[in-house]
Amino acid sequence: MTSAPAFPSPELPGYTHVYSGKVRDLYAPLDRVSGQVRADQLLLVASDRLSAYDFVLTTPIPDKGAVLTQLSLWWFERLEDLVPNHVVSSEVPAQVAGRAVLVRRLDMLPVECVARAYLTGGGLAEYQADGHVSGVRLPPGLVDGSRLPEPVFTPSTKAPLGEHDHPMPYAAVEREIGPDLAARVRDLTTRILARGNDIAAERGVLIADTKVEFGLEGGEVVLADEVLTPDSSRFWPAESWEPGHPQPSYDKQYVRDWLTSPSSGWDRASGEEPPALPDEVVERTRAKYVQAYERITGRRFG
Ligand code: ATP
Ligand code: MG
Repeated sequence: MTSAPAFPSPELPGYTHVYSGKVRDLYAPLDRVSGQVRADQLLLVASDRLSAYDFVLTTPIPDKGAVLTQLSLWWFERLEDLVPNHVVSSEVPAQVAGRAVLVRRLDMLPVECVARAYLTGGGLAEYQADGHVSGVRLPPGLVDGSRLPEPVFTPSTKAPLGEHDHPMPYAAVEREIGPDLAARVRDLTTRILARGNDIAAERGVLIADTKVEFGLEGGEVVLADEVLTPDSSRFWPAESWEPGHPQPSYDKQYVRDWLTSPSSGWDRASGEEPPALPDEVVERTRAKYVQAYERITGRRFG
């Protein structure tokens, strides 16, 4: 398995490091008596790393890991009646307090379950090409930012570190995990987004789209990873929503825009590593993550 090389994962007594994704470091707990690695649980530690355009940026965003972890915990509770989740406990080693959770270790399904409630990004591009998104025909006349009649399931492949996720036709999901499971995760993903929007709307936030991951435990489908965070979702302030152009957002779109602007000096097509972020960009990005948390939960961060 690959690790994000620029960021060594912390040593945690009582745990052994097993994997690092773009954002999270995964540890397995050691059995207190035998010292053996436990196969049934994982400690999921969200770092302050930010990935953009398939690169893990060299500049961390302070508090980002804690925002993602706390917001996911908040949502897991509000989705509990729809779907069981992987959380065992948020009591974790002091060194990673606030940004780690102990979870059930699941057999992850090899599908990124995406749902869209508003049209933008890759979904908009597909629609403009032939009026469909992920095989679902949409009404004519939709523009960037349009609200869809109902959330649409637009799954994608789970690409290895450093590679791009690709849209996955629904038939390919059925082939990969079987028609019953495919129908189950499609239904759950669109319901999670619909529930998310019902709740966030009361707080003036629109959730344009989101990505969730599911795993299996004893045949049961369990919601894993993170849910309805600014890394996995596009959050738009409702008061400035205006279809017809790109929307301002609480997610990492701001960093993406800076990276592709002349001020970064970076050429995305070059394939080279993006530059370090200036302090001002770090601070504004941090503020967006914290704002998303505070607006949605109604709680103060920290
Ligand atoms: P990748 O794993 O492809 O690198 P990523 O960069 O988005 O994806 P992170 O979010 O950094 O990954 O790491 C989280 C990893 O942990 C993902 O591979 C995810 O599938 C996995 N994961 C999340 N929850 C669980 C769970 N309950 N059991 C097993 N694996 C999990
Ligand atoms: Mg992830």
